[in-house]
Amino acid sequence: MTEPTHNTTDFGYKTVPAAEKVSLVANVFHSVAAKYDMMNDVMSLGIHRLWKRFTLDCSGVRPGQHVLDLAGGTGDIAALFSRRVGANGKVVLADINESMLNVGRDKLRDLGLINNIEFVQANAEALPFADNSFDIISIGFGLRNVTDKAAALKSMFRVLKPGGRLLVLEFSKPEQQWLSKVYDMYSFKLLPVMGQLIANDKESYQYLAESIRMHPDQETLKTMMAEAGFSEVSYHNLTGGIVALHRGFKF
Ligand code: SAM
Repeated sequence: MTEPTHNTTDFGYKTVPAAEKVSLVANVFHSVAAKYDMMNDVMSLGIHRLWKRFTLDCSGVRPGQHVLDLAGGTGDIAALFSRRVGANGKVVLADINESMLNVGRDKLRDLGLINNIEFVQANAEALPFADNSFDIISIGFGLRNVTDKAAALKSMFRVLKPGGRLLVLEFSKPEQQWLSKVYDMYSFKLLPVMGQLIANDKESYQYLAESIRMHPDQETLKTMMAEAGFSEVSYHNLTGGIVALHRGFKF
């Protein structure tokens, strides 16, 4: 593992030219899109659904509001918001990856939920929306994959309405050492094997395990959100800190 410089960045434990990360991440999600939902349920024993529901509960979402679910992928979080904002509200599911968006669009159509959902292909670093557009922005398990996280957080701040809130749901650092050890064993021994068996793709799940370790921990992400302009930033650890939900406001 070498330290990334300003021209390089991390892709899991590899250091790569910053300009290449976006296509490497794209390959991962093109490859896993079709089996993504099934892998999530198997890998987390369904617990990812509780993490996502908790995100919704902390959003304070109300009927009629406008929500951006960024890096929305196959649409789990967008589906939860869609039901809450109702017919007078709107959910924009934005993702950089066409394959993930296609799986999401098909799934949400099957659930009868696309009337108040818009699908947009966009990079979190340069969001194609007007200033002050959304009441709520969520990004679930997406920020970790973004090359320039500071630029992405600034872009989210720009498109959030004053009074709005950002929710960042992401893998983080387990609070207890024993949990870290068990989790490391699981991530590096079991996860790539499961990825191979279920999605026929060991490398993408090896990347998942590595990218989680490279992602900023709870306090670092809190500081990054404050630096991007967010106020009253706080976080809540879930499943012992394996995942954390960060929340910040735009005032
Ligand atoms: N939010 C969904 C969920 O919680 O199930 C999907 C999460 S999936 C692990 C990560 C998503 O981030 C992928 O769909 C990927 O295409 C998207 N992504 C990665 N880099 C991105 C970027 N720079 N801008 C927008 N989306 C990005």
